Amino acid sequence: MPSGAHSMTKPLTRVVRCLHCAAAFRVPDAATVLTCPTCYQRVRVEDVVVENELVLPRLETCGRIVIRRRGRLYTRLGVRASLGVEVLGELQAETVNSCRVYIGPQATFRGDCQAGGITVETGATILGGRFQIDRNLLDPSETHTAASCRA
Ligand SMILES: [Zn+2]
Repeated sequence: MPSGAHSMTKPLTRVVRCLHCAAAFRVPDAATVLTCPTCYQRVRVEDVVVENELVLPRLETCGRIVIRRRGRLYTRLGVRASLGVEVLGELQAETVNSCRVYIGPQATFRGDCQAGGITVETGATILGGRFQIDRNLLDPSETHTAASCRA
């Protein structure tokens, strides 16, 4: 983490969306876990970047999940990210749920996928699973601008 943030006049914040109540709220950039100001649930708000092999029962965040080229994420249960899932490496999960899912040209994906929008690049490998596009999962702040979750 760069330590130059104190020299900025404005604190670095970003907007995330609660996984439980779908309320959008602003959090400090460095925050990892916070209490949602609307439903008071403790929620993970950080962006999760997977660079190596990561094996978890499940992975959920109110931010984004990015699986880098060499990253491998194996979850027995679900993967949920309020602001998008980007797979450049390998992802295996029972269900992936997000507003947007991006599966890159060298990515491998196995599992069900439920998203507001799904992008699959040529060259990606999908090893089964049910894909479902549900417009209700789109981030409401996205419906006016075409901006995607993957900034
Ligand atoms: Zn909430």
